Amino acid sequence: MTHQASTQSTQFTQFTQVDDLTPLHDELAALRHRIHQHPELAFAEHETAELVAGKLQEWGYEVTRGIGQTGLVAQLRAGDGSKRLGLRADMDALPIHEDTGLPYASSKPGLMHACGHDGHTAMLLGAAKHLAATRRFSGTLNLIFQPAEERGFDSGGKAMVDDGLFQRFPCDMVFAIHNHPGAPQGDFMMRPGPFLAAGDRVFIKIFGVGGHAARPHLAVDPLVAAAAIVMALQTVVSRNIDPNESAVVTVGRLRSGEALNVIPAEAEIGISVRSFSPAIRALLKERICALVNATAEGYGAKAEISYIEGYPVVDNAAAAVALAGDVAAELVGEDRVKREFPRMMGSEDFAYMLQACPGALVRIGNGPSEGGRGLHNPRYDFHDGNLTVGAAFWSRLAERFLV
Ligand SMILES: [Zn+2]
Ligand SMILES: [Zn+2]
Repeated sequence: MTHQASTQSTQFTQFTQVDDLTPLHDELAALRHRIHQHPELAFAEHETAELVAGKLQEWGYEVTRGIGQTGLVAQLRAGDGSKRLGLRADMDALPIHEDTGLPYASSKPGLMHACGHDGHTAMLLGAAKHLAATRRFSGTLNLIFQPAEERGFDSGGKAMVDDGLFQRFPCDMVFAIHNHPGAPQGDFMMRPGPFLAAGDRVFIKIFGVGGHAARPHLAVDPLVAAAAIVMALQTVVSRNIDPNESAVVTVGRLRSGEALNVIPAEAEIGISVRSFSPAIRALLKERICALVNATAEGYGAKAEISYIEGYPVVDNAAAAVALAGDVAAELVGEDRVKREFPRMMGSEDFAYMLQACPGALVRIGNGPSEGGRGLHNPRYDFHDGNLTVGAAFWSRLAERFLV
């Protein structure tokens, strides 16, 4: 037998297990609770970003602050591998008044981490510390901490991409995790192709001619026109969209009038529109605008439409989902990984990063959401049990990708 040492590659064979993160659990939980207690709104994540940056520098990462305002990227290289991986966490909170009664509940009235971004940040920090200590990968690791995911428009993920995120920190693939209340804690859910919807918002003003309630023939009633528009809009999905596709048109706002003896001069309609493909998205816009204009005109009123395109579709790359699914299955077992999880009508601004770089968004079960304690609920809380599971997922994904 000859000795094979000369042909030995730098490939690592030992990958992170969930138990490897157990020693970090208390530290990560403390970090998560600290972030939870000090929530910050979109583009105001100064304290959070500073806390994150400080830890990452302490662990040996090269940190670049101020990408997309309060966003930051932490880079770590190991070995001589040429592959580059991006892992994203979001840092912002919501304008919700917390009602959990937890010892680490928000210290700021009207502000709360009600979407678990405190947990997402802590999970990625856990992986950061573990990977810096073990370094069983070969390539470049880019940890992306983004601001303002919840903003709905001109958001943090878009701001980072516009600020040259992937030109300054090129990635071959980029991944994100979001927690998922209602699914068993520590289960993983994903899907190749469109996973989360594009979300657009439409603001409509209907202009009529105000007047006396007793003399309707001398007025043009925008309230009646608005009511007709709301009903007409119900036909967009049912009559214009292929039944094999899916879309949502929800009128979430209808405002007009005050006094009962007055015909108002204006009415306001607000709509949320959701879709999974550019073609359906364009068709929805075309049909909504046509119906609104024609219906208003039919009642002698005039419509002014402001159609604001929000987050694009979260379009997962098949190869990225396959890798994420394998990594998750190796950690928690195939039976706890849903690789073809149904599409969801919510939106995520990680979609902008996926437009610039292939990758995938993965959901991690947060346990039962009893009493409606889902995302954006004042009694919601991230499950601390996921800190080690999520950090192990990130670590193993990096070890499996950066070879
Ligand atoms: Zn949210
Ligand atoms: Zn969220």
